[in-house]
Amino acid sequence: MNKITVCNPDEILSAINKKFSTQLDNLTIICDIDETLICSSSLIKHKYKGNDPKFSLRGPTLSIEGDEIVVCHRDMPNFLNNLLDQGVKILFVTKRSDSGKEFTYKQLNAIQIKNPIVLFTNGDNKVLTFCDYAGSLKGNLVVIDNLINNLYSFESIFGFPRHVNRVLLIEANFV
Ligand SMILES: [Mg+2]
Repeated sequence: MNKITVCNPDEILSAINKKFSTQLDNLTIICDIDETLICSSSLIKHKYKGNDPKFSLRGPTLSIEGDEIVVCHRDMPNFLNNLLDQGVKILFVTKRSDSGKEFTYKQLNAIQIKNPIVLFTNGDNKVLTFCDYAGSLKGNLVVIDNLINNLYSFESIFGFPRHVNRVLLIEANFV
C-alpha cells in the first residue's frame, strides 16, 4: 500500500496530486490531532530540552484553559482549510475521549480550522471507529497521522486489492 513520510504540508499535497490527480471532490482526509496538527508545548520542551530543531516551522503557541499548545507545522491549518474549500471532506479522528469534546473543538477553533468535524475513538482503534461512522469506503481516502501503528491499522482494513488504489497513508513527521 502507498505509504509515505512527510515533513511539511507541501509534501502531502504532492503525494495527493500524484496519486489522485484532479479527483479532489471525491476525497476524504482523515487527520490526526495530537502531534500531527497540534502538540503540547511542554512535550516539545521536554523532547528537545529547549532546543527545538523545527522551531522555525512551528505555528503560534496558544493558551487554552491554561493548557499551552503549539501548531506543529505552521502551514497545516491553512493547508487543510484550502482543501476544504476545494470540496475535500476532512475528518479529524482522535483517540481522545468524548469527555474532551468541547475542549478539542475549542482548540481547533483557536487554530482557525473551518467547521471541524471530529470523531472521538475513546482510545479505540481509529479505522474501526471510522468504519462505524462512514459505513463503507466512498471515494478516495488519505490518512495523516504521526503514529505508524495507526496507519497500519488502516492498512489492515483497506489494504485489500480493491481498495489499494484509493487509499494513501501519510506519516506526519512534524514533531
Ligand atoms: Mg497523534
